[in-house]
Amino acid sequence: MNQTAASAPPRVVVLGGGSAGWITACLLAKEWGADRVTVVESPEIGIIGVGEGSTPQLKALFEHLGIAEGDWMAACDATFKLGIRFTGWSERAGYDSYFHPFPSPVDLHTEPGFVHACALARRGFEAPAHPDAWFLAAMLAGEGKGPQPSENFPFTPTYGYHFDAYKLGAFLREWATARGVTHLPLKVEDVEIAKDGDVAALACSDGTRVTGDIFVDCSGFRSIIAQQALQEPFVPFADNLFNDRAVVMPTPRGPTYKPQTESIAMKAGWRWSIPLTTRVGNGYVYSSRHIGDEEAEADLRAALGAEADGVEARFLKMKVGRVEKSWTRNCLVAGLAQGFIEPLEATALHIVIATALDFVRAHDAGGDARRDEFNARTAARYDAIRDYIVAHYRMNQRTDTPYWRENAANQSLSDSLKAMMTAWFTQKDIAAANVEIYRTPHYAPMSWHCLFAGYGTFPPAAKMRPLPAELAPVPMAEAEAILGASARNFTPL
Ligand SMILES: Cc1cc2nc3c(=O)[nH]c(=O)nc-3n(C[C@H](O)[C@H](O)[C@H](O)COP(=O)(O)OP(=O)(O)OC[C@H]3O[C@@H](n4cnc5c(N)ncnc54)[C@H](O)[C@@H]3O)c2cc1C
Repeated sequence: MNQTAASAPPRVVVLGGGSAGWITACLLAKEWGADRVTVVESPEIGIIGVGEGSTPQLKALFEHLGIAEGDWMAACDATFKLGIRFTGWSERAGYDSYFHPFPSPVDLHTEPGFVHACALARRGFEAPAHPDAWFLAAMLAGEGKGPQPSENFPFTPTYGYHFDAYKLGAFLREWATARGVTHLPLKVEDVEIAKDGDVAALACSDGTRVTGDIFVDCSGFRSIIAQQALQEPFVPFADNLFNDRAVVMPTPRGPTYKPQTESIAMKAGWRWSIPLTTRVGNGYVYSSRHIGDEEAEADLRAALGAEADGVEARFLKMKVGRVEKSWTRNCLVAGLAQGFIEPLEATALHIVIATALDFVRAHDAGGDARRDEFNARTAARYDAIRDYIVAHYRMNQRTDTPYWRENAANQSLSDSLKAMMTAWFTQKDIAAANVEIYRTPHYAPMSWHCLFAGYGTFPPAAKMRPLPAELAPVPMAEAEAILGASARNFTPL
């Protein structure tokens, strides 16, 4: 599968019509031509139908494809998302909840003050180090305001979305097929492997044989091409991440919404609350080692109250980890077939988009010769995101159930995460440590600060001392003024 920029683009066969399949098909069609792309999916098997929160990468995807925000949002019941509010992950007084924002240009003015406050609090001085006080996105989300500023305000916060996963797939399918992508609603029975070990064709149940140069495995947790036919090894993350199941049930939505995902700690996991235009998506992600399905459903129902009465619960199993190599032979693997960390920071589709774009670049820059670098980058992206997710559990400040205590005591951590934690506890500069540890960090220092500070990961409250006059003061009043003045340029949703 060697190709130079001058030769004809490859013929691509995507197996799977979930969000991953259609996002990848659209991106490859844009890069290499719609007539080069075929999507095979089995309507009988269907899609997983969850995955309703995004990072700002989804905004970048639609902009890249040239699809107007208003068009796709209306078609997919989508709402804005400015970040995630974590509630109940810490028992420390004053830290019951914190907001992890997507960045905003206004943060350039307030983030240094937050970092300074954190540095002081890490050394045991009383300083206003709760992240909520320092970021515009937290203020806007709290006030139920959208991310689009009035005309005279030049700073638009970065934002993502919430959306209906079924409708997103259907929208992208229509967009792609209208431009010439071939769609085969067929079930694949067999993956034909050529003598050289490459994938030769997908054999479908009606006898159709689908051939191509590159095969993209987006067949979900089944991973029919990469993990089954090509036997690509799977690297499990189960030692780091205990959650392996979810129970899902929608509830009605009220007249207004806050542009945030809510991530609320439960006794053996956490539950999300995601506002769409038509409903609220809810799901409890839990560890089957710590709680049974029935109890998890009962706990979710109890948390949701009367609105969940009569609503059917749907259970999902999660296989947490990643394939060793995302580009193996002439197969790219993306979406749940490639891996899954867990939905805590809604990173799955982000990885799909990053994988597809990086694959095109690597392929066009040298074909197979670029495969190892691509695989190393992709694995590093997964592992860096995994570290950040694992940190939520390892740093949790709850003591009420074995689940939380075992997570807090978990010693099965990557060296990189251990190094980040050590950097925090030894008062190192987090921005410098982030670069030193991850080289090309996935999460910004702001995110690490929000996580550690959001839980109140400081010396015990009884040991905190008043800030002495000789230390630089924290510019809290200045930040409040900047954020307050900025927020007045945004309107409620
Ligand atoms: C509980 C939970 C919550 C999540 N929350 C988020 C979130 O908030 N944000 C986020 O980004 N992601 C989230 N995800 C992940 C997200 O759901 C997936 O990344 C996304 O839906 C893409 O899935 P997929 O397309 O890889 O797989 P699927 O949706 O499972 O699609 C697989 C496709 O392969 C086809 N297929 C399978 N076998 C065959 C066959 N033999 N022949 C033909 N076709 C076949 C199926 O028909 C289907 O079209 C969540 C996942 C879970 C489990």
